[in-house]
Amino acid sequence: MTRSPLTVLLAAPRGFCAGVERAIGAVEAARAATDRPVYVRHEIVHNGRVVSELAAKGVVFVDEVDEIPDGAVTIFSAHGVSRAVERQATARGLDVIDATCPLVRRVHVEGRRHAAEGRALVVIGHVGHAEVEGILGRIDGTVHVVGTIAEAAALEPEDAERLAYVTQTTLSVDDTREIIAVLRSRFPAIVGPDVKTICYATQNRQAAVRVLAERAQRIVVCGAPNSSNATRLRELATVLGRPARMIADAAELDEGFVADVTTIGLTAGASAPEVLVRETLERLRGWREVVVEEITTTVETTRFAPVDLGALAGR
Ligand code: SF4
Repeated sequence: MTRSPLTVLLAAPRGFCAGVERAIGAVEAARAATDRPVYVRHEIVHNGRVVSELAAKGVVFVDEVDEIPDGAVTIFSAHGVSRAVERQATARGLDVIDATCPLVRRVHVEGRRHAAEGRALVVIGHVGHAEVEGILGRIDGTVHVVGTIAEAAALEPEDAERLAYVTQTTLSVDDTREIIAVLRSRFPAIVGPDVKTICYATQNRQAAVRVLAERAQRIVVCGAPNSSNATRLRELATVLGRPARMIADAAELDEGFVADVTTIGLTAGASAPEVLVRETLERLRGWREVVVEEITTTVETTRFAPVDLGALAGR
């Protein structure tokens, strides 16, 4: 039987960002540098495939520092941690390697600067996300978390004249602009970075989905359900009128989703490894005569210096 053709518009950029590469590199480098057990607090990046591959090499993932045995190397994930977590590790005498993404660190610095200048801080982000927890745990003073336009409209700060905001790095650019607009209209004195603290990788992957959606009838996003930036890609595709599926594994894609269409878009969140994209293409080839067309919207050149492994020196 002749298989019908399917054009796959492959987003570029897609998949791993510089912060994720750096964090995974830190875990690999720590493994190579020591015979001691290596523990990571929280998933190093939000992707089960990445975590299970590292776990298969002996890396142990835990939720809290108190689960880490004395003498183990302790790695903090790309999402950052609160100062309480940092202090807990220091008090335990654990050797810490901090893989917090430099762009998350920049949000910490900006938030602390506003707090030091006497402003209450509005964190635009999702309650419970590891990055937001880390930001909240680094600010002295009043902090409000706002995740929606409704929450921005309901915010009642003590002093509307002394307010600032920062954003989580992996938000929807469009939603964040709307939230900022509400905050600015209600509190004209508020200061903040517009959407600049949404990171380059998040912005670029969303921009690429916009271009895919001009031609693709459906969009597939490789990414884990707990990945904020991958979830935003699926939501954006839907907002643009393109039915979208987010898959953590190629096996989750069902043939029915791509039946009766001739063109789909394929992308991957910033913590999704390229192997997921390759396996998704293989799965599609099992059903259809696939033609891949890579759509390059931006060439990313951002790279970060490797994580400091100084904590392991001389041990
Ligand atoms: Fe850093 Fe952005 Fe990647 Fe998060 S998505 S790790 S903020 S570069």
